[in-house]
Amino acid sequence: MTVTNATNIGNASCAELLGEARNSYAQAHPLSRAAHTRAARSMPGGNTRSVLHFPPFPFYVERSEGCHIWDIDGHKRVDYLCEYTAGLCGHRHPVILSAINEALERGWVNGAQHEIDGMFAAALCDRFPSLDRVRFCNSGTEANMMALTTSRAVTERPAIMAFKGGYHGGVLLFKDGPSVQNAPFETVMADYNDTEGARKLLTENAGRLAAVILEPMLGSAGCIPAETGFLRMLREECTRHDIMLIFDEVMTSRLAPGGLQEMTGVTPDITTLGKYFGGGFSFGAFGGRADVIDRFDPDRPDALTHAGTFNNNPFTMHAGHAVVTQVYTPGRAATLNASGEVLRKRLQSVADRHAVPLVFSGVGSMICLHISDHPVSSPSCGIHTPEAEAAKSLIHLELLARGFYFAPRGMIALSLPMTKAEHDQLIDAFDDTLHLLAANLTRLATAR
Ligand code: PMP
Repeated sequence: MTVTNATNIGNASCAELLGEARNSYAQAHPLSRAAHTRAARSMPGGNTRSVLHFPPFPFYVERSEGCHIWDIDGHKRVDYLCEYTAGLCGHRHPVILSAINEALERGWVNGAQHEIDGMFAAALCDRFPSLDRVRFCNSGTEANMMALTTSRAVTERPAIMAFKGGYHGGVLLFKDGPSVQNAPFETVMADYNDTEGARKLLTENAGRLAAVILEPMLGSAGCIPAETGFLRMLREECTRHDIMLIFDEVMTSRLAPGGLQEMTGVTPDITTLGKYFGGGFSFGAFGGRADVIDRFDPDRPDALTHAGTFNNNPFTMHAGHAVVTQVYTPGRAATLNASGEVLRKRLQSVADRHAVPLVFSGVGSMICLHISDHPVSSPSCGIHTPEAEAAKSLIHLELLARGFYFAPRGMIALSLPMTKAEHDQLIDAFDDTLHLLAANLTRLATAR
């Protein structure tokens, strides 16, 4: 299932080679194809989560263990997709299994409080500089919706500022502007890492802005870190105008023991969390300054409400507490992210050795591949022609064929069970792929 056997590879376009790679993939996954056909009878396109789809059809999972995932067609792969960063602990981590067993033993539909809820909250507040208080919900999307609606309630202003390329959930997606499916917040759009442009927009709109929301490193737009000066400016202007600065650390909280807020030294008013902190179970949290989040104290006469049947579901509470206190300790966060720094540099040096226009961006354990001949500092950087998109899909399928699963858009995330052996194998597979495709990829830069 690779284009290795295609004739005249060097002269073909990436789009042509992609067609061949898709055919080989389809032939190598007959059982997944059948499962997909069955699923499509009751789910549109066989899909219930858009990001999991890739043409011709995604493989179907048989099981997973450690840092590996097996499909029903019998292929074993190293899981660098890592559940879009939520799989940080790896599959079936023994400490999480025993935390879940405890929840199973003690019952899980209680409609009441458990001591573990407060213990988990305390562990998070100890860990993140901005968290005086925290509240739980079920997803990153929900956490961001709550952070934004809380900001609007507290400031009594209607609008929000978001950044091009920002992703804060299914109803909070910002490309060049808000998606048509977004929650209908009045939104001021600014360019990421454009310090002076964003300062100007902030000043002009200060009177109606409740919140500025951003990821301190753009995640789904390609692991593009914020410049510290940009974050400092946002902190300064939000303080000046009493606007809530919200850091969406749903993904980036994994990049340092106290998240990117700790690494950059810029403390937001509200932080949102999600993904891996639930140990792989549904999870979201929002928290921050005591004077803001204490508005949810039910004993207050001016209390805000926050509902959610599963906010403190025992699986997430037990698993999450185990993750913060036993599994993703500050020491392990440091080691994992250091190994990601090494891997990113190694991937870049393979690309440079083949002289192809590929750039690996990111911080620590999150890495993203871009088709670009320049460093990437905003989502508009890089080559975005249809041929370049085909090249990215082709690299994705070639690496799948060589036993590596990662996000079709180029994102790679590390998990705790990975060792240098898996990284060495990825480097070899990437090198092998570039031996095959170097001529085609080089033309992407010259053809612009
Ligand atoms: N914020 C960021 C930065 C994310 O990456 C995501 C999910 N990829 C979300 C929010 C939404 O989280 P969820 O999928 O749990 O709703």
